[in-house]
Amino acid sequence: MTAEPVIDTQHGPTAPEVPPVPPTVRASLSPSRAADFKTCPLLYRFRSIDRLPERPTVEQVRGTLVHAVLERLFDLPAAARTPESAGDLVAPQWDRLVTEQPELSTLFAEGDTAGLEGFLRSAAALLEGYFTVEDPRRLEPAEREALISAVVDDELLIRGYLDRLDVAPDGALRVVDYKTGGAPREAFEARALFQLKFYALVLWRTRGVVPRVLRLLYLKDAEVCDYSPDADELLRFERTVVALWRAIEQATARQDFRPRPSRLCDWCSHQALCPSFGGTPPPFPVAGPADPLTDARSRPAAPGADE
Ligand code: SF4
Repeated sequence: MTAEPVIDTQHGPTAPEVPPVPPTVRASLSPSRAADFKTCPLLYRFRSIDRLPERPTVEQVRGTLVHAVLERLFDLPAAARTPESAGDLVAPQWDRLVTEQPELSTLFAEGDTAGLEGFLRSAAALLEGYFTVEDPRRLEPAEREALISAVVDDELLIRGYLDRLDVAPDGALRVVDYKTGGAPREAFEARALFQLKFYALVLWRTRGVVPRVLRLLYLKDAEVCDYSPDADELLRFERTVVALWRAIEQATARQDFRPRPSRLCDWCSHQALCPSFGGTPPPFPVAGPADPLTDARSRPAAPGADE
């Protein structure tokens, strides 16, 4: 995609309509939860079945804040989308997030003004990284932080929040995902691409168009990673997602979710309960049939929270 995609918001492609869920649908899955199972079945269990709380890390909260600023940045007229404007949005967006999620204020001890100021400065620094890889004055995203969904295999609803969707005048789609984490990229890139392909599959199934570009924007390193899928690949990916879901169902029926240790364990909140680290998981919770629309297994992660 050579030219920056621009959408005429009056006449261009419109937001995808969320189709009614067919009565055949009996389960749902989000890219974050699917990626959990792929990464480590026990991690999936802890998050989606036991629903164990996780205290967000500073990096995750910074990711949420930076995503919020980038989302609001595009509310401004194109010419006003400058690094200064983005910097000016950091504190108000932080205040908004803390009002909506008061638990975030516990990230810093009371009176730790220096800690909070350093945190806000680090978010502003990531935004500077953003401006070195993109000029938002040349973009009019078609979607921002949009919840998209599709039904695959007649019975599985897949859905998730994409950070941004750009639509070129010729209808070409570009899915953009902002990455703000400081963890080594190689440890997370496969997971990030898996999630982007998930969005590509949803868009292909709902719009009939294979996205031309799946773009990861690494703000810390100020780098861009582009990937172009094709229909055959998405077809294979769809089979993978369905197979993954069947494996999850089987593991649930057997109450058998095994740990799969990897470098990602360093970022896992549940080491104390993990047999690979000498822990014991809690008793398997007893649950009735889940509603696909409210099932925790498909609860999409908020933008930026899955860094
Ligand atoms: S510590 Fe590692 S192996 Fe254990 S649940 Fe977490 S990710 Fe899985």
